[in-house]
Amino acid sequence: MRHALLLILGLAVLVGLGGCHLGAKRLARAPERWIQEQGGIVADVDVAPRARVAWQAVTRERREPRLRLRVLAAPSLSAFAWPSGEIFLTSGLVDALDDDEITAALAHEIGHLEAEALSSAAPGFAGLASRAGSLAAEHRADLFGLDLLEARRIPGQAMVDMLRKVHARMVPGCATRAALEDRIRLLEATASR
Ligand SMILES: [Zn+2]
Repeated sequence: MRHALLLILGLAVLVGLGGCHLGAKRLARAPERWIQEQGGIVADVDVAPRARVAWQAVTRERREPRLRLRVLAAPSLSAFAWPSGEIFLTSGLVDALDDDEITAALAHEIGHLEAEALSSAAPGFAGLASRAGSLAAEHRADLFGLDLLEARRIPGQAMVDMLRKVHARMVPGCATRAALEDRIRLLEATASR
C-alpha cells in the first residue's frame, strides 16, 4: 500500500513539474516536504555505504558536479531523479538489491537526466517505474543505463534483475506493474540482439 501511495505522489509531482516550463524548472530541487513525506534521509550506516560504493562506480569519470546521491528511509523499492541532479534511492531498494543491481538503478536514473538534457522536452521528476504512457522514456533511460553498466564492465542482466525485484514487490494488476513487464520484455529483446 505504501508503494502505491508513493507512486501516486510521484505522479502528482510529475504533473507539478511537467508542462511547458523550461529554464528555471531545470534546476527544480526536491522540496524538503517531499523528502520528509518519503521518510526523510537515511542515517543508517549499514545502508548508505553500499549505495555510496555503487554511486562512485557509476559516476566515476563523469564531469557532472550537479549529480548528488541521497538515500531515503523508506521500505518501498523506489528511486527518483530530480531535474536538479539529485538522485534518491529508498533504503528498501538498497536492502533488496545486490551491488550491481544498485548500480543499475542509479544508471537508469542518471539516464533520465541525460535524456532530458539531450531533448527539448520539459524537464520533470522521474522514477524507477512510471505510468504506462511513459514507456518510451523509461526504455530510453534503461538503454542509457545499459551503456553505462557496459562501460563499467557490469553485466546488463543486472538491470533486468533489478527491475524484476521491483516488479515482484508491486501490487498485482496495477498499471505501473504492467508497464514494468513491457519494459523488462523490451530490455530482454535488446539484450538478446
Ligand atoms: Zn525511470
